[in-house]
Amino acid sequence: MKAIRLRAGKERSLQRRHPWVFEGSIAKGRADAGETVRIEAHDGAFLAWGAYSPASAIRARAWSFDEAERIDAAFFERRVRQALQFRERLGIDSDARRLVHGEADGLPGLVVDRYGDTLVAQFGFAGVERWKAAIADALLGAAGLPRLYERSDIGVRRLEGLPEQRGWLRGDGPTQLEIREHGWTLQVDIAHGHKTGAYLDQRTGRQRFAHWVQRLGCAEVLNAFSYTGGFTLAALAAGARQVTSVDSSAPALELARAHVARNGFDPHRHEAVDADANGFLRQCLDQGRRFDAIVLDPPKFAATAAQAERAARAYKDINRLALRALRPGGLLFTFSCSGGIGAELFQKIVAGAAVDAGVDGAIVERLGAAPDHPATLFFPEGEYLKGLALLV
Ligand code: SAH
Repeated sequence: MKAIRLRAGKERSLQRRHPWVFEGSIAKGRADAGETVRIEAHDGAFLAWGAYSPASAIRARAWSFDEAERIDAAFFERRVRQALQFRERLGIDSDARRLVHGEADGLPGLVVDRYGDTLVAQFGFAGVERWKAAIADALLGAAGLPRLYERSDIGVRRLEGLPEQRGWLRGDGPTQLEIREHGWTLQVDIAHGHKTGAYLDQRTGRQRFAHWVQRLGCAEVLNAFSYTGGFTLAALAAGARQVTSVDSSAPALELARAHVARNGFDPHRHEAVDADANGFLRQCLDQGRRFDAIVLDPPKFAATAAQAERAARAYKDINRLALRALRPGGLLFTFSCSGGIGAELFQKIVAGAAVDAGVDGAIVERLGAAPDHPATLFFPEGEYLKGLALLV
C-alpha cells in the first residue's frame, strides 16, 4: 500500500474529519489516479485511507478515518446502503431525490440522483472514477433498480485530468422521464438537462414558496432564472393569478410551458420570457410593472472564494432590481448557490441591495438545499445553497 505523508502542522484538517488533502500539505509520496493510499501524519501515524489524484489541487480525499477499514467493493456497498437508508428516513415528497451527495455521504466526488426507477450519477473525482464499476453495482443493488445513466460531463472532471463522459453505464431506457414532486408532474431530460436533469436541491424552496404565496395571497409572481418552471408551478398551485417565468434558455422555457399545461393550469395564467433576468427586471422598472412575489435563483456566480467579489456585485445588482420591482409588502425568495459566498456574506449583500433600493425586509425564513443534499458538520462546504425569504 502506498502512503502519502503530510507536512508537520498540516494534519489538523484531517483530524477534524475534513476529507480533503491539498497539494501543498503533502511532504512526500505519490500514487496513480484514484489509487488507495494511507494518509499519514508527519511522524507516520495513521490519519485516513484515501484516494490519490495526481492532477488535482485537492491531491487526495479521504475514504475512511478507521485504520481497520478496508477500501474494497464491500466498503462501497456499505457507504451506498447508508446513504440510501438516510434518505428513507427523511420522508421526501417526491419520487426524485439525491441518493448520494459526495463528501457528505463519505463518497467524495460522487453525486447520484434518482428519478423514478432511473439513477443518474456524476463521477467528479479520480477516486470514484477508479471504483466506478463497484459503485455502479453497489448503487443498483442497494436501490433494487436496473438502470444507471452517467452524466460525468462536468467541468470539475478537467481539474481531475478526467475526460467528460455521458451515457448508459448499466442497463438502458428512456432519457426523458416524468417525476412527481409535491403532487406536481415534471419532465426531466437526464441526458441534456442541467446537473443530472433537474434542480432537486430546490425541492424544499419550491414547497416553501408555495406556502408563502398562498399565505400572503400573492397575485402577480415573477420567477426569475426559472429553468423548467419549478417555482412557477409552486406559485400557480398556491393560487397566484399570473406567473412570469424568465430564463435565458429556450429549451428550459419550453418545458416550463409544457409543465403548466401538463399540470392542468390555464396557460393564460403563465407567460414565459426568453431574456436576461437583469434586463427583464430593468424593463419592468422602466414600464412601472410590479410584482407581489419574486424568486431569484441565479446560476453560480462564484465557484471559489477568489471570484467572490465580482459575484457579490452581480448578486447585489439583481437583488436591488428585484427589491425595487416588488410592491410594498411583497415577498422575495432570493438564493445563491455559489460555494464561495457564505450565508453571512450573502445576507450582507442583500442588505446592501436593500439600502440602494430604499426598502427594508424582514427575514421570515432562511432557506437551503433540501435535506437529501446535506451539509455535514465535518464538511461545511456542502452548504452551497443558501436563501432568504424576505417580506419587504
Ligand atoms: N429555480 C430553478 C433552477 C434555476 S437554475 C428550479 O427550481 O428548477 C438557473 C437558471 O438560470 C438556468 O435555467 C439558466 O438557464 C438561467 N440563466 C443563467 N443566466 C441567466 C440570465 N442572465 N438571465 C436569465 N436566466 C439565466
